[in-house]
Amino acid sequence: MSQDLFQAPDYYNLDDLLTEEHLLVRDAAREWVKREVSPIIENAAQKAEFPKQIINGLAEIGAFGPYIPEQYGGAGLDQMSYGLIMQEIERGDSGVRSTASVQSSLVMYPIYKYGSEEQRKKYLPKLASGEFMGCFGLTEPDYGSNPGGMVTNIKDKGDYFLLNGAKMWISNAPFADIAVVWAKNEEGRIKGLIVERGMEGFTTPETHNKWSLRASATGELIFDNVKIPKENILPNKDGLGAPLGCLDSARYGIAWGAIGAAMDCYDTALRYAKERVQFDKPIAGYQLQQKKLAEMVTEITKAQLLTWRLGALRNEEKATSAQISMAKRNNVDMALKIAREARQVLGAMGITGEYSIMRHMMNLESVITYEGTHDIHLLITGFDITGIPAFK
Ligand SMILES: Cc1cc2nc3c(=O)[nH]c(=O)nc-3n(C[C@H](O)[C@H](O)[C@H](O)COP(=O)(O)OP(=O)(O)OC[C@H]3O[C@@H](n4cnc5c(N)ncnc54)[C@H](O)[C@@H]3O)c2cc1C
Repeated sequence: MSQDLFQAPDYYNLDDLLTEEHLLVRDAAREWVKREVSPIIENAAQKAEFPKQIINGLAEIGAFGPYIPEQYGGAGLDQMSYGLIMQEIERGDSGVRSTASVQSSLVMYPIYKYGSEEQRKKYLPKLASGEFMGCFGLTEPDYGSNPGGMVTNIKDKGDYFLLNGAKMWISNAPFADIAVVWAKNEEGRIKGLIVERGMEGFTTPETHNKWSLRASATGELIFDNVKIPKENILPNKDGLGAPLGCLDSARYGIAWGAIGAAMDCYDTALRYAKERVQFDKPIAGYQLQQKKLAEMVTEITKAQLLTWRLGALRNEEKATSAQISMAKRNNVDMALKIAREARQVLGAMGITGEYSIMRHMMNLESVITYEGTHDIHLLITGFDITGIPAFK
């Protein structure tokens, strides 16, 4: 890939709204991505491999549990810093951000929020340092947008629970040390449990041939009579609201992350348009290209404002799930459209791995689908404003 010359657009001086700590955290993540992710990510994506060598670096910039208290190994940062870290990582690659999101919001968050003190002490410091990697099993072959229908189940056997079923499309599954899994008990109530690699009957086959998120490992979780010790059940919350609470946190991070991908595409297209000469002048001098670039920076600026406000609401614990849905949906759609436009600005060069745009575009096709599809988030807004659910 060509040298990383990224310069972030800040058209409305949003940096003025950030604290010194936010800027320090953001700039450290930005520099780390330039130094450690940009030089290797194209190769990792082409080879369809998660670059494990960056795990320590992700831990060092606070990407694993940014808002988990320091006593459990987390970075103890606020929601704005969490968002900014996700933005910077996704500026590098959505697959790398997916790994960090899963570890933080879908594995550490439920253990912190719904787990026992013993579970927190046992798992959180190792997850924060990257010694343990985790994954989150909610989606099943027959239950994607409708996870409440899940058939994965646990049966109480006295000393332990017996777990059976299968999850698919699970990020980090092929190499995860632990999985936070959602399963129904005999009463049909959804419970969260921690499954450890090495438990008999538990396998994690990798999903191959993806055109998207190639630098993130995806797989299945198969449970064939797995004995789960009772102390591995998350005791403090159950029902569908428990996994949905984790998704709120992850979707919030995605709203920021998508801005990162969009900023990278815009910045690349702007630089290229100023340098590329056709018909004796830079293509940036043609109205058609200016329209694309001007609309890109307008959409990025709107998304930045929306997301900054959402961060402020999250810090006050006032953000609703529906507000998070709106930002996730808007920002990912915005980023995907910008990636498509930016790729055209680069002409043929846009389809090569010399530039990050095509990789972002392909990645965003997953991001617009996972953690609630584009359609489902619209239905959440529809339900919120009308009071009438249109899911069924
Ligand atoms: C790369 C990748 C990584 C992933 N990582 C994870 C992970 O770590 N953990 C995890 O649990 N899951 C993960 N997922 C799964 C993801 O969350 C699901 O793919 C997603 O929820 C959609 O489910 P589905 O693919 O089964 O689509 P479906 O639910 O079958 O939807 C298919 C289409 O129908 C539409 N649709 C569905 N219901 C309605 C409705 N009521 N009204 C109108 N339209 C509707 C959808 O919008 C979509 O367009 C991942 C997916 C991908 C691609």
